[in-house]
Amino acid sequence: MKTYQVKGILQQKSWLLNPFVTIDSKGKITKIASKGTSDEYIDGYLLPGFQNAHSHAFQYAMSGLAEIHTHHSRKDDFWAWRHAMYEVALSVNPEQLESIAAMLYVEMLRNGYTSVAEFHYLHHDDQGLPYAHISELGERLISAAKTTGIHITLIPIFYQKGGFGLPAESHQRRFLSKDVDDYFRLLEASSASITHYENAQIGFGIHSLRAADKNSMERIFKEGPKDAPIHLHLAEQLKEVDACIDFYGERPAQWLLNQGILNERFHLIHCTHLNPQEVKGIATSQAQVVLCPATEGNLGDGLFSLKAFQNQGGKWSIGTDSQINLNPIEELRILDYGQRTKTHDRAQFTSEHQGDAGKFAIDMAWHSGQKAMGEKKSNFLTVGQSLDAVILNANAPLISVSKPENILATLVYSGQPNDLMGTLVNGQWVIKNQKHLNQEAVQTSFTKSMRQIKIR
Ligand SMILES: [Zn+2]
Repeated sequence: MKTYQVKGILQQKSWLLNPFVTIDSKGKITKIASKGTSDEYIDGYLLPGFQNAHSHAFQYAMSGLAEIHTHHSRKDDFWAWRHAMYEVALSVNPEQLESIAAMLYVEMLRNGYTSVAEFHYLHHDDQGLPYAHISELGERLISAAKTTGIHITLIPIFYQKGGFGLPAESHQRRFLSKDVDDYFRLLEASSASITHYENAQIGFGIHSLRAADKNSMERIFKEGPKDAPIHLHLAEQLKEVDACIDFYGERPAQWLLNQGILNERFHLIHCTHLNPQEVKGIATSQAQVVLCPATEGNLGDGLFSLKAFQNQGGKWSIGTDSQINLNPIEELRILDYGQRTKTHDRAQFTSEHQGDAGKFAIDMAWHSGQKAMGEKKSNFLTVGQSLDAVILNANAPLISVSKPENILATLVYSGQPNDLMGTLVNGQWVIKNQKHLNQEAVQTSFTKSMRQIKIR
């Protein structure tokens, strides 16, 4: 048991100032009170930790490397980037994946994420053969999360095809399941792997409509676990939309909506290219959208129909996807500013054109994000929840002179990474003054692996 006194804690409606926050030995909040005695004073504001609803850990190794443009005759688009990404996917062994993921998770925690959903499709060895322990690589991600303390939802992904109606390509060999039974065995092994870490959960899903045939998708959605979140990429690329029309005679979102299966357990990644009927259909189905604004911008994907989706009750979260940006605040800004630039309207993060945009963004990204993790929390930082929080320094220049009601917008629109004092997971400091508890060991192992891979 431990009691912190803090400058403020964000509750669902507003800040509670100078509270005493007590946790039990597992880091669960047992009491939030205005009076008491504390074991430690934190001169900072506690916000619920950010939820990273879409991550491919191995891609951290190539972050920033696809910016040297060398294709004179070819457009440097998503598909060219994907080719470079496959090269990395083929070169990483289990030990290297674990050390890359651990470094990545430290960086996520340092930026304020306390949970990550790993959309995990790198399953086999470099020849495409299953490891003796079939969830070896998923287990490495769990182990990396355990080293760093981040909460992880492992989402083993079904990957089968090289495109609509096309066989898989050789460089996709590490991703593939032979059939649905093969995938369910992987899912079962992964479910056993998560038992090695108390902050791990399981999800499931398919890579995209282009990577799975219709019968396999139907079986996975129908026979998969009934209480886990379901993730898939949807309509990220125009070429993918066109290929879907050629194959199914329908656009991807339209096709998926017509299957009549969407519900609040679905988390649809990107949804960049939707028409107004599809926006309405997804919002109405209660399926949620995971936006990865920095990656979508970096890859030149396009802009999501944010306002129309929100206005119809649509819910969204954020993800780091390709790991090109690990700062959740910056993700929210990129998302907002893309929309402002397109529409010439500054009020994007609001439901009825009024309200605090900073609060709206944090609220939306947290609520939908924790559902993407498989959590069912309904309010910020309440009794019974684990104390997972990012701490904003009360002495940061603009924060120190702001009224409580201006703090969230100040953070979201002008906050800088060094305005954060640290990150608590299960009530324990995992990051303090920009450094992780295991910083040296994690970084040494990461450096060694990256030198072996020789891609940078
Ligand atoms: Zn992705």
